[in-house]
Amino acid sequence: MELRVIGCHGGETPKHRTSAFIVNDVLAVDAGSITSGMTTQEQAKLGACLVSHAHLDHIRDLATLADNRCQMGCAPLVVVGMKETLAALREHFFNNLIWPDFSKIPSDEQPTIVFQEILPEVPTKVGDFLVRAVPVSHTIDAAGFVIEHGGDAIAYSGDTGPTDRLWEVLNEQPNLRALLMEVSFPNAEQGLATASGHHTPRTLALDLVKYRAPTDLPTLLYHIKPVFQSLVEHECAQLKGLNLQVVQLQDRFAL
Ligand SMILES: [Zn+2]
Ligand SMILES: [Zn+2]
Repeated sequence: MELRVIGCHGGETPKHRTSAFIVNDVLAVDAGSITSGMTTQEQAKLGACLVSHAHLDHIRDLATLADNRCQMGCAPLVVVGMKETLAALREHFFNNLIWPDFSKIPSDEQPTIVFQEILPEVPTKVGDFLVRAVPVSHTIDAAGFVIEHGGDAIAYSGDTGPTDRLWEVLNEQPNLRALLMEVSFPNAEQGLATASGHHTPRTLALDLVKYRAPTDLPTLLYHIKPVFQSLVEHECAQLKGLNLQVVQLQDRFAL
């Protein structure tokens, strides 16, 4: 699989973009910066978007993506999420107030977006991919994803603090090639991290121990808060015995 980083931060500045990753040019994983980071041709190629949870930094560019794709006459984009996430998108985002309901535009028969619910831990076909959503520990209902294609798997933590089930699932995933893992705040901001359901490098290290399979699994860190970027990177560099890499905008990985 090819993984492309469009946005990998827990905030935004001209040099930081909110979470959005693309697999094999067709599958988006969260939509924090899809339109600010991709050309219209690239946006048109997408078939589906996995949405980990309803927080704005993960959904915001669904609005502008739908608008662009509607004007380009694209096939419906499949927006995949757990029941609670899709309910929030319908009620609070594509609600004809904050933004038009693109699940009915230009018509009920040929909409710009269609919603596909994914049940927790049920392998679900999304295009050419087999996807499992695994509930994680955040301030609202949130999922991580295991994404399989052609005998390989990658995992995405979504936004989470210390959690258990994700690691149990990953321990039983022998073809796992990489893990996109969140870390947001520096160790000194543990109170903020705990209150907001995020990791610090300290809690990240404690959670990664729950993964018992090969310790050289490429662990790609994302969701660092821009204000704390250099400090969190420095603290992660101190963690030994792990194959950690802080991802950067425009990174591409062949996994
Ligand atoms: Zn969140
Ligand atoms: Zn977030």
